[in-house]
Amino acid sequence: MARALVFDGERCLACRSCELACAVIHSRSRRLAEAIVEEPRPRRRVSVVRGVNGIDALRCEQCDEPLCVFSCKSGALHRVPADGRVVLDEERCVGCLMCLMVCPYGIRPDPARDRVTRCDVCAGLDVPACVSACPTHALQARDEAVARAHTAFDGHVVIVGSSAAGVAACEAAREHAPGCAITVVTADQGPEYSRPLLAYALAGRVDTSLLRWRPERYLENEMGATVVRGVRAVGLDTSRRALTLSNGQEIGFDRLIIAAGARSARVSVPGATLDGVFGLRDLEDLDAIDRAAVAGRRAIVVGGGNVGLQVCEALVDRKLSVTLVVKSAYPLSQMVDEQTGRRVGDLFARHGVTVRTGRDVVEMIGRQQVEQVRLDSGEVLPADIVIVGKGVAPDLEWLKGSLVEVRRGVVVDACARTSVPGVFAAGDCAESVDPVSGRSGISAIWPVAYEMGRAAGSTAVGVEQSTPGALRMNASRFFGVSIISIGETVPERLTGSSVHLLANDESTYRKLVYRDGRLVGALLYGDVSGAGTYYRLYREAVDVRDGALEELAVRAMRRPGR
Ligand SMILES: Cc1cc2nc3c(=O)[nH]c(=O)nc-3n(C[C@H](O)[C@H](O)[C@H](O)COP(=O)(O)OP(=O)(O)OC[C@H]3O[C@@H](n4cnc5c(N)ncnc54)[C@H](O)[C@@H]3O)c2cc1C
Ligand code: SF4
Ligand code: SF4
Repeated sequence: MARALVFDGERCLACRSCELACAVIHSRSRRLAEAIVEEPRPRRRVSVVRGVNGIDALRCEQCDEPLCVFSCKSGALHRVPADGRVVLDEERCVGCLMCLMVCPYGIRPDPARDRVTRCDVCAGLDVPACVSACPTHALQARDEAVARAHTAFDGHVVIVGSSAAGVAACEAAREHAPGCAITVVTADQGPEYSRPLLAYALAGRVDTSLLRWRPERYLENEMGATVVRGVRAVGLDTSRRALTLSNGQEIGFDRLIIAAGARSARVSVPGATLDGVFGLRDLEDLDAIDRAAVAGRRAIVVGGGNVGLQVCEALVDRKLSVTLVVKSAYPLSQMVDEQTGRRVGDLFARHGVTVRTGRDVVEMIGRQQVEQVRLDSGEVLPADIVIVGKGVAPDLEWLKGSLVEVRRGVVVDACARTSVPGVFAAGDCAESVDPVSGRSGISAIWPVAYEMGRAAGSTAVGVEQSTPGALRMNASRFFGVSIISIGETVPERLTGSSVHLLANDESTYRKLVYRDGRLVGALLYGDVSGAGTYYRLYREAVDVRDGALEELAVRAMRRPGR
């Protein structure tokens, strides 16, 4: 049973007693007189808003499919397997704001603590504080069983990969088919870890123990899976339904889920394999960079995408002298528009990074160890280490001859089905359709990998579940500045789109992109409040024409009775 708050707007006086009670119960003292002088100020988790559709209390709704959990790359937001409750472990939160980006209801930023807060429905109290404080009983607590469709499927599900997509597939298969056998085959030697937190660990902002985003032996103990670690899938025979492993073993399956992710894309220039040239994709990369990233050394970061910039910031934190080489005219060109990209470039420059835009590396020079890099301008830069962050490439050679259709990634439909019945694929190794552009591609981000993994796991055991496709979004935080990018943020790349610029001053930039009455992109720099609303409008392709306000549209999407 998961306890959720139910709200009746007809009864609400908008007196905000619930907000006050919530802040007090979440203060250190839990007493009003002391709470009002506490620093940092206690944060409320519920918010009363008055909109065109009446009064509402924004609160966590304990969603059946909680997007906040799916997007949380630290595991701070997770579901308790026993009862399905969504909980937030604030100590694990790294403040990345991915959850704020996807949820317009239950997540609140907590800048003083550099993390978020979320309604915990006053776990530990018989009656939540807001419910006790509400004079009209507009807010009430209700215990609800989490609805799960169960199937009698009792075959063998084999999952290749134990990261976002693989773990999500395992969770979904187990939720829906308690009787099935699950084997996870993974090249990872140790327990599941979060790849997006690697840059945080490099910067020393999280301890490496926090990279584990699920508890110790989670797949074995809580998911009842057999896990084969440190072994790669090297061949697939779909006619015999057999997977060949790097240890010579062969495993038969009834359903196969390929969640093998991707590796850092390599640059094909002379000297790219010299010592001191790295990518950052796994724990081994982290160890190697960690040893090489000694304060005072000269680092060249090649690639101005999200990962390249995270690495840049980490190396600045470690007191290296950093040069960023970006082929595009501005950093983050896949995520943001030129104006924002230039702001980002300036931000890095203000923090001591030498930013070279419109330039590419054509050679890495050194005997055994990299010593210099040559740019396409002919300029030669001294380098002690080089980190390449130029996107990702799936490693799918082992699928050759298997009849599974592979383009850049494994081609899948909305339910993560491949061209071969019974074989599914999810995450960074799979390509699906971007609902805005209509093009098939890989959206190599954690929430998409996780949701595809869930769709694959559910559908594989007989509960068909789809995803909205290769959605594009990311929440980044560089030197304390938040940036959220959703969908297509450059209207020139989308015929028939129009732009609404809502803010453009020194610290804030906010722009929405519409096409055919639908929000197809949003870009927030600095102040990222309201991102969850924009994300839902984009994700659900809500028609916001005819003066239908965005807020109204979001509320229209809410489930009845909530
Ligand atoms: C430094 C860094 C920062 C990032 N920052 C963000 C961010 O801010 N936001 C965001 O949304 N995303 C971010 N990402 C991307 C995110 O990590 C990926 O989208 C996500 O990890 C994809 O999950 P996945 O399960 O598809 O694949 P992966 O995480 O790549 O995992 C692949 C799994 O498959 C296994 N495997 C691979 N090949 C085989 C094989 N042949 N046989 C057996 N096992 C195999 C691997 O061992 C691993 O367990 C970042 C990534 C990195 C590296
Ligand atoms: S997505 Fe939002 S409303 Fe749903 S469970 Fe998460 S925090 Fe609560
Ligand atoms: S801010 Fe990031 S780490 Fe913290 S709960 Fe949200 S998604 Fe998880």
